[in-house]
Amino acid sequence: MDSQTVLLVFIAVGLDGLAGLAGGVLSERWLQRHLPALVAFAAGTLLAAVFLEVLPEAVAALGDAAFTWALGSFVILALLEWALGHHHHHVEAAAGHVHSHGAPTLPAALLASDALHNVGDGAAVAAAFLVSPNAGFATAFAVIVHELPQEVGDYALLRAAGWSRVRSLVALGGVQLTAVAGAAAVLLGTRHLPSLQGTVLAIAGGSFLYIGAVDLLPELRRGLDSRKRVGGFLCGLLLITGLHFAERILGVHG
Ligand SMILES: [Zn+2]
Repeated sequence: MDSQTVLLVFIAVGLDGLAGLAGGVLSERWLQRHLPALVAFAAGTLLAAVFLEVLPEAVAALGDAAFTWALGSFVILALLEWALGHHHHHVEAAAGHVHSHGAPTLPAALLASDALHNVGDGAAVAAAFLVSPNAGFATAFAVIVHELPQEVGDYALLRAAGWSRVRSLVALGGVQLTAVAGAAAVLLGTRHLPSLQGTVLAIAGGSFLYIGAVDLLPELRRGLDSRKRVGGFLCGLLLITGLHFAERILGVHG
């Protein structure tokens, strides 16, 4: 791996870290107006990234075994969500309906599951940049845009649990940086185990599919401003699709 790849990975993971602060930085009014479209946009980027970049690269690296890993990670996420309750489903919380949201989420449990998730995101970004710049950009983009609504929701839940603004932001920013650990583990691990990046991509493919299709896509059917949601979804799809075909046409596959 060259130093440019490593640099790109850490820039992407750093931007992902900033997404952790979204809940405290974006105004409540902006969020109420744009969050549904943002969630739909994230669903579009995730699904396009899975089918155009992440799974094809995983199959190129591992062959059909990539689908077994992807299925495994999809099923494990589904089982985890049944066991622990929803993780990525905090959109209502961000929209200010925290109190009607059933059992309160414990901050420690929330932050722990967030940390685990971010290690996976960081690993996925690193593995994607290792196979090609284009897979890297698509994956980094999909990771950052799905983190925005997620972190906004987590911030709302921490505030609802009585945490101060500063404490909430420091905790979320810190937890977001666990992505660095995931990225570093993949960058170092592939030196000893070259098949690691394919396996990580296959696992990421299954989990992005789950988050996009199961957690985020159903949000498209809710609420009033459905035109905005569908528009956001299509924009997300078009963005990653455009990136994909621009690469084909320009022949810049790395
Ligand atoms: Zn994520």
